[in-house]
Amino acid sequence: MQVQLVDLVKDFGQTVAVDHVNLTIKDGALTGLLGPSGCGKSTTLYMISGLEQPTSGKILFDGEDVTEVPAEERGIGLVFQNYALYPHMTVQQNIMFPLVNAKVKKEEALARCMEMAKLVKVDDLLKRKPSQLSGGQQQRVAIARALVKQPKVLLLDEPLSNLDARLRLEMREEIRRIQKETGVTTIFVTHDQEEAMSITDEIVLMKKGVIQQQCFPQRMYLEPANQFVAGFLGNPPMNFVEVQAEQGMIRLNEAQYPVQEDISGTVLAGIRPESFTLGEELTVLVESVEIRGRDQLITFTLNATPVHALIDSVHLVKAGAPLSLAIKGKRIYLFDKESGRRLN
Ligand code: ATP
Repeated sequence: MQVQLVDLVKDFGQTVAVDHVNLTIKDGALTGLLGPSGCGKSTTLYMISGLEQPTSGKILFDGEDVTEVPAEERGIGLVFQNYALYPHMTVQQNIMFPLVNAKVKKEEALARCMEMAKLVKVDDLLKRKPSQLSGGQQQRVAIARALVKQPKVLLLDEPLSNLDARLRLEMREEIRRIQKETGVTTIFVTHDQEEAMSITDEIVLMKKGVIQQQCFPQRMYLEPANQFVAGFLGNPPMNFVEVQAEQGMIRLNEAQYPVQEDISGTVLAGIRPESFTLGEELTVLVESVEIRGRDQLITFTLNATPVHALIDSVHLVKAGAPLSLAIKGKRIYLFDKESGRRLN
């Protein structure tokens, strides 16, 4: 089902949590709602679910206005960060609960519970209580419970935050698989850019209640709309260095790089750490080297600004020594210094 937000606003007194958001979420896709803490992701999700009422604006499900429709009648499934399972119920009772509540016949409820338990791979744990499950297993049960009523939209609010790093990796793949198998339109709230990049069909990146960019993950990484987006995606983050653009040229230390003729004055040059490679374009003085496995993180100064580069660990790089570098494809992003708008 397609979800549309039309000029959606949510004020909490002085705080504008969601600021005139217009957004279309594709039917059958896994969409990541991404942004730093407090940017309005959860508030947006709760308005879609009906748990939070907008101050103004509309929410449409397949073109139908549901803004005034109560949460329980919207046909959505919700999964929270803390799982919110009923502790006194078994796995089976938890998964069946929405069906029992809706007075679905016992046989059918049982059959659907089994189907969901198999889908999320907890069918061998049905008699256990939540306290006898691992975090990942609890989250699987929460997903099964959210899906058992065959919702039109599945909403996931930071579902992996309480899991350790390994389980997080495993569960994000599982969410992708379950979403693919069911085809249910899914909105996944996260502040973790890597998580959003790795499993979603599309990312919506928010800052202070305003959407910064909406597109598929790779495109957002390669073609960020502004400095905020560029700095939010990528780890370690993109470097930003002040440069003077003059007559189609900028200077990084002693090296010159061509830019569009119509860009002039002081602008910000953005270079991803992974865009650096060994080469003959610019010479830097290595300040520190940190081996990170396959890559090493090198720190040096570019135009009086500390900069990071990720270089393959097979190369011997020494702190205190000069190093000749190049920028792959001369990929330098330029941003307006004041507004952060992308210029090239
Ligand atoms: P997080 O990742 O930390 O949950 P978020 O992006 O989901 O952040 P929201 O929880 O949507 O952000 O909050 C957006 C803004 O609205 C924040 O400034 C927050 O403090 C404020 N806010 C959220 N809920 C309320 C509330 N019930 N009363 C007052 N302010 C609120």
